[in-house]
Amino acid sequence: MTVKLYDKDAYIKEFTATVLSCEETDGAYQVVLDETAFFPEGGGQPADTGTLGEVNVKDVQEEKGIIVHITDGALPVGEKVSGKLNWDIRYSRMQSHAGEHIVAGTVHTMFGYDNVGFHLNDSFMTVDVSGPLTKEDIGRIELAANKAIYQNNAITVTFPSTEEVAALEYRSKLDITEGLRIVTIENVDCCACCAPHPKSTGEIGAIKILDFYPNKGGTRMEMVAGLNAYLDYKKLHEANKTLMKLLSAARDEVAETVEKLNEQLQQLRGENQRLSKELALSAMAPVAVGDSAYVISEGLSYDELRHCSNSLTEQGFKNCILLSRSEESSYIYVVSSSENEAKEKVSALNEAFSGKGGGKPNYAQGKITVEDVDAAKSLLEKLLQ
Ligand SMILES: [Zn+2]
Repeated sequence: MTVKLYDKDAYIKEFTATVLSCEETDGAYQVVLDETAFFPEGGGQPADTGTLGEVNVKDVQEEKGIIVHITDGALPVGEKVSGKLNWDIRYSRMQSHAGEHIVAGTVHTMFGYDNVGFHLNDSFMTVDVSGPLTKEDIGRIELAANKAIYQNNAITVTFPSTEEVAALEYRSKLDITEGLRIVTIENVDCCACCAPHPKSTGEIGAIKILDFYPNKGGTRMEMVAGLNAYLDYKKLHEANKTLMKLLSAARDEVAETVEKLNEQLQQLRGENQRLSKELALSAMAPVAVGDSAYVISEGLSYDELRHCSNSLTEQGFKNCILLSRSEESSYIYVVSSSENEAKEKVSALNEAFSGKGGGKPNYAQGKITVEDVDAAKSLLEKLLQ
């Protein structure tokens, strides 16, 4: 069994230990020491990184009590080596993990739910609990969790005896009664946990629940604590400042201003659509073929073509074929027919100009490729006669 230095003192950043073994596999080295401050991946928390002597520790895993350091270089067996953690990352994880205990403990006290999942990455964490929560519940949990930080409650680690465990009320109950590691947050929580934690809740700084949603019959919360809560605030503050400047809005009026702008945008879009249809109509130059008509135009949308064809139908034209060039030789078309002949005309168009499209007997639309506009005009005249 490797002696876990972080178990009793979570603040060890550097240490010296003896190399017990070093084995190469696939270009990496598996190093076992007699004792270590490197926390292995586990309980939702990633492994510590850092250095052992001159080599980098890329990953740390625990196998049956033996802690294996995955390094990018070999170390001499039997000799002493100095270890150094990437402390800023590890400390940020300690803050986050303790923040998770506060929130999960608060949820347990308020609602009786269990903590059924935890995952920590280097920017935020997810915490899963076993029951439903509302927006109001989340607000209450978040406030209580932050108040627990202001109280600067002690966080302690104990290894209770089998008799003590039997009498203990704690979360994350495990089947084991021997060697159980209990993390207690004064007045807030008591939980079985293998990870390093700060000494008091004040070190967590702040907790913010970013989002929550139903998950497997319970609730998943996305949250930040400690350094990550500060970094998140900083990032959002910078983004808000940019928006304030762009919108000429006060710092707490950005959302309201965007809502108003969005309303204006919808109005303008509607107005723009109406005007572009009117413009298409006024620029339309229909060619009459008996009591039918065709139009060849450019740059119009299906909507605008349809608007034009409605106008032609209102003017009394029975069959109307409208083409609009979209790019190069590709055209979109609409066919309207008060005599229910749209489908036949569309088949003829598609066949002659390798097109695609269809619709109903009185209206259809599609796309064709026209290399020779005169040939198209001849066909349209023929179809409309
Ligand atoms: Zn934990």
